[in-house]
Amino acid sequence: MKTNRCPVCKGKEVEIIIKEYVSNKRDKETNNQIIVPNVKVFKCKNDECAHTWLPHQEEAKIKTYIKNRSRHCLTPGQIMEIRTSLPFRTKTELASFLNLNSKAFVKWENGYTVQNDAYDLLLRLVAYNKDNLEFIKYLHKNNFKYNECDYQFVCESKKVKWNFAEAVYKKNKDTKLVLLDYISKKQKEDYAKPTKTEEEYYQNDYDAKAA
Ligand SMILES: [Zn+2]
Repeated sequence: MKTNRCPVCKGKEVEIIIKEYVSNKRDKETNNQIIVPNVKVFKCKNDECAHTWLPHQEEAKIKTYIKNRSRHCLTPGQIMEIRTSLPFRTKTELASFLNLNSKAFVKWENGYTVQNDAYDLLLRLVAYNKDNLEFIKYLHKNNFKYNECDYQFVCESKKVKWNFAEAVYKKNKDTKLVLLDYISKKQKEDYAKPTKTEEEYYQNDYDAKAA
C-alpha cells in the first residue's frame, strides 16, 4: 500500500497499523455496533504528532462492510440452511445450477464475503418455492432459450396462453427428471414423488394462476 506524508506534521515516517473500526451503525441481526475487523490505518511515526488516518481504499472497504452488515441480507447460517434444504449434494452443484461462481458461494456461506443484493435476492427466490427451482431446471434443459410463453406477465400483456406449467407438468413429463445428476438418489426419489397428481397440479395450481 502506498503511504503518504502525514497530513498534520508533513512527516515522511509513516507506519501501517491494523485496527478494528467501530461504527455507529448497528447490525440488524444482533443490534450490536458494527465492528469492522482488520482495517489498515496510517500512523505518523513522529511521536509528538502520532496522527492516524484512513487510506481511501480502506474507507471504501469499511463503507461496503457496514452497508452489508446493516441490511437484512442472508447470514452465512441462513445461506447454509437454504442450501441444505435444497436437493443438491454439494455447494458446487448448487452454485453451478444457479450459474454462480462456486468459490464466491463458498465464501458467502463461510462468512468471508457478503453476497450482493442481486445474489441475495436470487437465493431467496430459489428457496421460496419449488416452481422457481423447476423453472431454472427447465431453463437449463432448454439452454436458456427465450420463449415468451414461459413468462406469465409477458403472456398476460400479449394476451397469449401462458404455458410454462403445461410444458413442465403436462407435456414434457421428463422435464421433472432434468438435471437429476444434481440430486442425490434419496432426495431424487422424494423430489420426483409429486404431492399431487399431474392433473391436480395442472388444474388447481396453474389454471388458477393463469386465470
Ligand atoms: Zn505527523
